[in-house]
Amino acid sequence: MSDRKPTIGGNWKMNLHTGDAKALAVGLAEAVKTDAVDVTVFPAFPYLAMVAGVFCDAGSQIKVGAQDFYHQANGAYTGEVSLSMLKDVGVATVLVGHSERRHVIGETDVLINEKVLAALEAGFEVVLAIGEKLEQREAGQTDFINYAQMCYGLAGVSAEQMSKVTIAYEPVWAIGTGKTASPEDAQAAHAAIRGCLSGIYPGTDVYATTRIQYGGSMKPANAGELLAQPDIDGGLIGGASLKVEDFNGIITAAQ
Ligand code: PGA
Repeated sequence: MSDRKPTIGGNWKMNLHTGDAKALAVGLAEAVKTDAVDVTVFPAFPYLAMVAGVFCDAGSQIKVGAQDFYHQANGAYTGEVSLSMLKDVGVATVLVGHSERRHVIGETDVLINEKVLAALEAGFEVVLAIGEKLEQREAGQTDFINYAQMCYGLAGVSAEQMSKVTIAYEPVWAIGTGKTASPEDAQAAHAAIRGCLSGIYPGTDVYATTRIQYGGSMKPANAGELLAQPDIDGGLIGGASLKVEDFNGIITAAQ
């Protein structure tokens, strides 16, 4: 690990209800005491305010992020949630470009870029998720896909704004499958992503300062090895973020 501060995200996805979401938030507020790691959890929309309230009441450093939003100002967008609504309930971080939104919901690179720009404009921290599918990895296209998704996602984002952006490299074949990229493969992809950043932001230190999380079946048993890689600055965790012990085990491994 480098001098970049480790950052661990817990993506709760479409899981949990009031009782278990509250119990998880209370348990995390009790268990996670470090300020050596930035920790953010991403509950589903109905529970954002409640979880933010639990952390606030407990004086916890854990931040609350949103898994999605719509990039337009409040108005006639049935079913959507705006950035100003998120800000209103204590959310300061948003996730954009998760593979489930790209490949299950059908979000395009254009929409992802619009969301990134709107969130940065509104002062949010952005976690931009990228990553290749299995057939793309097998065809040797991993670095190309990551480069393309970053070029589209970050179009119009200034080097200065990059201080608010974290990249989450999540190989699609590793998400929720129990298959984790080997530490060597993950490190190689992260190093290539850093190389892309130096191409996108030439003459700046963006490539060196941007934090890049790994995501895809990270758990306490494999977190140590992954997080020990020089270009892996944290993790975005799905399944293992739903239990206090597992998530805290990963946070501990990141310290
Ligand atoms: P997983 O999910 O840890 O369950 O593989 C990671 C993610 O989708 O962010």
